[in-house]
Amino acid sequence: MKEIFREMNQNPWEQGFCWFWCNDDEIFFYSEEDFERRVEILANSGITVIMTFSLTHFRMGFYPYWKELNESLAKLVRACHKWGIRVVEHHSASLTSRILDEGGWEKLDGELSGRSKGVAKYDHWKKIFPFLTYDYTIDGIDIRTFMQIDGRTGEYARNRYGTFTACYNNPDYRKIYFNYMKSVVETGIDGIMNDDIQFFGDEHACTCEHCRKLFREQTGYTLPNPENWNEFAGNYDNPAYIAWKKFKFDSTERMYRDLGEFYKTLGVQLIRPNYSSCVLKQNPTCYPFDLCADLWDFIFQENCNADIMKESYMDFMAEAVHRFAAGRGRGVPTMSMFYPDRPDSVYFSWALARSWGQIYTGTATGVDITPMELPYRKFEKKYLRFYEAPEKISDLAFYFSRRTRDFTANTFKRFMRHMMGSMQAAYVSGFRLDMVMEEDSLESLLRHKTIVLSYVAMLSESEIERFIAYVRAGGKLIILGDFALYDADGRKRTETEILNIFGEPLSLNQKINLGKGEIFLSDFRPEEVEFQPTIGCKRGHTPPLSTFSVPSKWEAQKAGTGNLLRTLMTPRIELISDHDRLVATTFDVKDARVMHIVNLTDTISAERVQVSHDDLIPNFCEGAKKLSRITVKSEELPDFDVKKVYLLTPEREEPIPLDMVQAEKGFLIEIPENTFAAYAMIVLDKIGNDK
Ligand SMILES: [Zn+2]
Repeated sequence: MKEIFREMNQNPWEQGFCWFWCNDDEIFFYSEEDFERRVEILANSGITVIMTFSLTHFRMGFYPYWKELNESLAKLVRACHKWGIRVVEHHSASLTSRILDEGGWEKLDGELSGRSKGVAKYDHWKKIFPFLTYDYTIDGIDIRTFMQIDGRTGEYARNRYGTFTACYNNPDYRKIYFNYMKSVVETGIDGIMNDDIQFFGDEHACTCEHCRKLFREQTGYTLPNPENWNEFAGNYDNPAYIAWKKFKFDSTERMYRDLGEFYKTLGVQLIRPNYSSCVLKQNPTCYPFDLCADLWDFIFQENCNADIMKESYMDFMAEAVHRFAAGRGRGVPTMSMFYPDRPDSVYFSWALARSWGQIYTGTATGVDITPMELPYRKFEKKYLRFYEAPEKISDLAFYFSRRTRDFTANTFKRFMRHMMGSMQAAYVSGFRLDMVMEEDSLESLLRHKTIVLSYVAMLSESEIERFIAYVRAGGKLIILGDFALYDADGRKRTETEILNIFGEPLSLNQKINLGKGEIFLSDFRPEEVEFQPTIGCKRGHTPPLSTFSVPSKWEAQKAGTGNLLRTLMTPRIELISDHDRLVATTFDVKDARVMHIVNLTDTISAERVQVSHDDLIPNFCEGAKKLSRITVKSEELPDFDVKKVYLLTPEREEPIPLDMVQAEKGFLIEIPENTFAAYAMIVLDKIGNDK
């Protein structure tokens, strides 16, 4: 467990997270008692940590109101502390609103209202106008001098919200922001999430004078001027470009680490949760979320607001495998943040998060989901021991090649989505997934019997050596799709070099023995057939907007990568039933082994159809038809005496006792028909206390 949790005498797995919006009302008009009234309701719903969210998220643009923001934050903190709730302040560290001389209040109002359910009032925020139209100064420093600069134009770089962003290498910005953070810490907050430490400008920032100078000093390369920019940008054959991307990662990572050191100098130990919506796909902004994983006390993922969860969860699942692996070993929980707004979507997102070994957190714009969450909060509190510090039991681990993601051209289209497609295919084919990373030791790799290298296109010499040692010691490698095309500097390997990379020559579609282990190189290329993408659709419209779905790849995934994997190994757990979309995951917890079963039938339709956020998730609706009989066939016996076997589901008050029957290679468990509809947990209990 991380030091910070021990010091606070807190069980990190017991925390209930929610988001607390602070907009015009809360900031300007709330008394401490107003905050207390709302906090009391949260405390009674099992919430222990609130994270703030606000229309003032782009905090650099709200400089004229920093004082008021801190005053309201201090009131919130006092109210929360009365109820034993901790407060994590969350805002964007570097994004600012538009510089107003080109758009005026209307544009700013649009930005604010988008984040505030339309409550921003000009009267409340009028001091922003002079600040962003002619004054621009904080402590005598013109904020325009510290914005990220676009290499194509030499002008301010636009971020994905169409506004501007401060540069982490600018000493003035750092001084101002660190000072501001000192004042925020003085409000008494318990935690901090400094968001958006990233480079924008569509991958063309930053080329400010500070970045140019530092880059030259650190690498010996010179960044080109706008007139020569095009031949430099995106050219992964140019070592200077790869060096620049590495430099950008170093810069954002340094910012996060320096903030951590700064908080220590203030004599406080702050909880630092952090999230990313996608780590596996690509990372065009050089967000160092996974490089800094050791800093985060909760590692989580945002399953984005716009993504229709019923259609998009396969993508979330792959990310969850990453987050779980990132949290493991650091003793920190991982968490999934969803945007459910109905009882069925709350149940669906809670069940998915829990089946992935994660804490669930949800927020919805304009809907109070606290009462909908209550049954699940109660359930997980009652059965905390089965959700706490889960140790995953898996069939295979996918290798996450950060190099391939960051230092190859067009990485998502060429490599990463195929890797994610392979993961999804393994998931629907009954395999339980885990992940290993570049920084994992040989010892960590050896905890997994089988590692899948799917589209690992860039591979360094030291990674190759570690894989050779892994296989020699008994590990199995399964290689799919493009493999080791580039070395760590981006140099292309020849086909002969690739086939001889492990010393012994590889041959296609044949197992090669090496030491005690083996390597299988497949020529199967799933390409786009297998990746089930997220489906985004804007929320907040009446009537709700709809969009077209991408038909389910489930069958193609089973027939493709799933079938290939099944010829090489058999999943050690099988769910035998009339339902073909039941997924099982397994974890060891204190004194028990638990298996989560989620019913994914009637999600992601087989046809291309119109879908919207308002589509019900039928099996998760109240009164949904319970499933017919399920036989769980397992080849895994726990290494303890099982005192009792039972099934738990939030759909029933009491545990359902089950029989475990010895079978040839393991055991069988029958789940009677009509037991549950959507989610259940089977407990193999060492203690036999199911209360
Ligand atoms: Zn810069």
